[in-house]
Amino acid sequence: MDISEIYKAFDTIGCLTFATVDKGVPNTRIAHLFAHDHEGLYFRTMITKPFYKQLNEAKTVSICGMYPTTSVQHNSDGLPYFPPGFTIRATGDVREIPFEKLKEKATKDSQFELGVKDIEKYPAMVTFCLYRAWGEVFDYDFEMEKRSHKLERTSFSFGGLSNPAPTVRINENCIGCGKCMKKCSFKAITATENIYSISPNRCDVCGDCYITCPVGAIEYT
Ligand code: SF4
Ligand code: SF4
Repeated sequence: MDISEIYKAFDTIGCLTFATVDKGVPNTRIAHLFAHDHEGLYFRTMITKPFYKQLNEAKTVSICGMYPTTSVQHNSDGLPYFPPGFTIRATGDVREIPFEKLKEKATKDSQFELGVKDIEKYPAMVTFCLYRAWGEVFDYDFEMEKRSHKLERTSFSFGGLSNPAPTVRINENCIGCGKCMKKCSFKAITATENIYSISPNRCDVCGDCYITCPVGAIEYT
């Protein structure tokens, strides 16, 4: 995924959760991205808010959201049900964008005009750019209503970061019993000539295979 596709996914959701850290304590709030370009993803806050102080001190942020609904529904068994949709998250480093630079961007790209107008209306407002980040999209269809597997997981990164998203793998202790493949409801495990492997883009890191394997051949990071 490139920055434009990442922005589109976040913008489809609209209001997002932004997480920062204040003296080791996590803080969250709802905000939104308003623009993107080759340098990153842009959002605004006010210099008087704790969000601003935390962004300036730690210079990092983590963003996530969910589409199309955040409500927790239940099926006839009373278990959670989520209609097909996606979640997206991104974690990375931010820098403040001077107002003059924002105005310059607005002369070339209309996305930034909104930011300029808002800062002219509310002068304590400032812009930040998430200029490097890693993240993932979890495209889910847990009841397999629209396709034959539950999850399509897409990792991304930009600005020079690599993606440390958690993965599960089968190591050399595998005895080829096949129990993990039978247990995996995400259809993430395949076998070729009795060599078992896990497809990261289908795997939910749910742990069912880890619990099931009789010889401890499944590792997670
Ligand atoms: S359950 Fe463990 S030993 Fe059996 S196939 Fe899977 S990884 Fe290999
Ligand atoms: S962690 Fe869950 S989804 Fe991933 S391979 Fe194991 S059982 Fe399948």
